[in-house]
Amino acid sequence: MSPGPPDRLALLEAVTRALVDPVFVLDRDGRYLEAFGGSDRAAYDSLAYLVGKTLHDIMPAAIADGFLADVRRVIDTGQPHVYEYTLSADDCAGNAHDGPPGPQWFMGRIAPIVAGAGDVPDCVAWVVINITRRRQLEAELQRFATTDELTGLLNRRAFLARLEAAMETARAAGLPLALAILDLDHFKAVNDRFGHAVGDAFLRYVAKALLAWPAAGKVLGRIGGEEFAVLFEGLALPSAAALLREWQAQFHVRPFELADQAIGVAFSAGVVAMADEDASTTDLLRRADHWLYEAKHAGRGLVAHPGWIDRRLG
Ligand code: GH3
Ligand code: MG
Ligand code: MG
Repeated sequence: MSPGPPDRLALLEAVTRALVDPVFVLDRDGRYLEAFGGSDRAAYDSLAYLVGKTLHDIMPAAIADGFLADVRRVIDTGQPHVYEYTLSADDCAGNAHDGPPGPQWFMGRIAPIVAGAGDVPDCVAWVVINITRRRQLEAELQRFATTDELTGLLNRRAFLARLEAAMETARAAGLPLALAILDLDHFKAVNDRFGHAVGDAFLRYVAKALLAWPAAGKVLGRIGGEEFAVLFEGLALPSAAALLREWQAQFHVRPFELADQAIGVAFSAGVVAMADEDASTTDLLRRADHWLYEAKHAGRGLVAHPGWIDRRLG
């Protein structure tokens, strides 16, 4: 005789035990009526300690309040809720700390369970999945996409995005904004004389110095091979130009040191203030680029801006 179908309840229990991700059942007081599954110790601490306790028994009020509000909203509206949150074993009193170390990111899917037959109260099924690895990869991807690998400055794309946001903010607030483009003078000669690796170190030196020198509202990007862009938020054109001249003077006395020799650092720059005519980042960049060209054309080592080309430094 073949065996009959398995007992449904026994099967259901077996399935909940086998779940690698947890499912919590919480009532409208935030009490854990059940904690199923979650057997994957690489992703979750043991969960049995939760059953019978409330969110507020376990977590600091600031965290528990938020979770409880979510539970009640799902029960009251009958609408499921999905969101991502971070939680650490240290936030949970009574936790066995037998899961992954440090703060973890979770995605919670909270579904309403309407009071039904028997003694099932209003409650929610809170399905959890550990998404820490995914969040880490997203952060890494974001960093790769926005950072210039050689210098650690914003790359061209990220700088342009930052510039666009800054233009909007400055316009809305009626504040000044200046943009400079710096291009190293005769940089090709550095590569030719000392090799590409030294050229790279030279570029890193320049980036580090530009980053270190203080200027309020300064945002730096590497927008081309040996071209840097500087955004001065809240700064009027004369102040921005004065800073650039100061940086030229600083490089003048702080050459790039290579073993037993010093290689001079010089740049030309075009700098402009945002004006009504600048409808987009492209317009502003084009104008700064034009004045950079003027600075190069007038002899290099200069800062040029509308109406003015500085005299060459001594
Ligand atoms: P100018 O004063 O007219 O700007 O002269 P320049 O030599 O600086 O300009 P040019 O455009 O002729 O040369 C720029 C050089 O920058 C050429 C290119 O090989 C070098 N370069 C661009 N990106 C990198 C980089 O990432 N590393 C190194 N080492 N060199 C780079
Ligand atoms: Mg160039
Ligand atoms: Mg150059």
